[in-house]
Amino acid sequence: MSTVKRVYLDHAATTPVRPEVLDVMLPILKDQFGNPSSFYHRGQVAKKILEEARETVANCLNAHASEIYFTSCGTESDNWAIKGVAKALEKKGKHIITSKIEHHAVLHACEALAGQGYEITYLDVDGDGLVDPEAVRAAIRPDTILVTIMMANNEIGTIQPIEKIGQICRENKIIFHTDAVQAAGAIPIDLSQLPVDLLSISGHKFYAPKGVGALYIRKGVRIATFMDGGAQERNRRGGTENVPYIVGFAKAFELAMAEMAESTTALQALRDDLIEKVLKAVPYTRLNGHRTLRLPNNANFSFEFIEGESILIMLDYMGFECSSGSACTSGSLDPSHVLLAIGLPHEKAHGSLRVTFGKSSEAEDIDRMVDALVKIVARLREISPLWEAFLKENK
Ligand code: PLP
Repeated sequence: MSTVKRVYLDHAATTPVRPEVLDVMLPILKDQFGNPSSFYHRGQVAKKILEEARETVANCLNAHASEIYFTSCGTESDNWAIKGVAKALEKKGKHIITSKIEHHAVLHACEALAGQGYEITYLDVDGDGLVDPEAVRAAIRPDTILVTIMMANNEIGTIQPIEKIGQICRENKIIFHTDAVQAAGAIPIDLSQLPVDLLSISGHKFYAPKGVGALYIRKGVRIATFMDGGAQERNRRGGTENVPYIVGFAKAFELAMAEMAESTTALQALRDDLIEKVLKAVPYTRLNGHRTLRLPNNANFSFEFIEGESILIMLDYMGFECSSGSACTSGSLDPSHVLLAIGLPHEKAHGSLRVTFGKSSEAEDIDRMVDALVKIVARLREISPLWEAFLKENK
């Protein structure tokens, strides 16, 4: 076995469960196994624990506990928001506005609705991945029922002007959903101020386990039930609540909010150090995503003339665990829809690398990683026909 140090740099894909979270989950898994719907004492204890967790999540978002609905993941939250509004408002209209850089949980939910007679407008983004709020306004029609634009992008980290987009939706009385799966726990979200009606979050992006998420539904928003079943979640989402995971989710979110100022400073320092050093040390490299309006932990590069997959394999061999795009598309040979949407040609979109820092990241790993990248990119260019052609042309 190789003894190379493993460095995990893919926190946008998922995060480990932090010890404080495990500590609050384990006693519930072991002892408090009651079903919150049971009338006897054990059930009522579970119900109390569940409702306390809901209160905690609501506080993190400055929302009301009755507006928080627990789900199984971010994908379920996105599907519920989009398909639930589409169904509830089908008599009003069948037009939905989204962007070209949404996560597949949103894009594929919209595609499914397109197959049922809904019309979807996919807005362009600029070279940094930003949606223009005025383009949202221009796309609104009398039959528009929903706008769904993500808060922060999972590949390039760009943070959208959610407040402005939400205001435009409010002015036009259109429901606004935002996928905040990458944003929650990383940047502040104040739902008493933000004009957002529906918001998706997922625990495994902020050190809670995989398989637990939430959908915020602002009071009064019309939305159909997504999971038919029992009367759980105020009759809107059937299924016995996953109490231990929900408690872990609430604890992780609470810790992320309490530590946000400190962790933002630490992550931004790592991110900016890496960006500066990579752009300096590796020629023909670009940073994808907005330089400042980006998640504190995200760096995304395109290295011209080479394949992202090869970079990942060689980095893995040298101990660095990164991604070339979203976790769900890695393994596919299609270039990222996000990189194509920000205007990268196919060959540049193929040579991309996403590095996302987290709690375990250390400043000393950056120089080692830059050294590794310099060697890897040079080696891959040596065997690249695109590089050879470029050198000939530019002799
Ligand atoms: N939305 C965004 C922006 C994401 O990054 C992800 C996961 O990567 C999801 C939705 C899906 O969340 P989950 O993995 O909890 O289903």
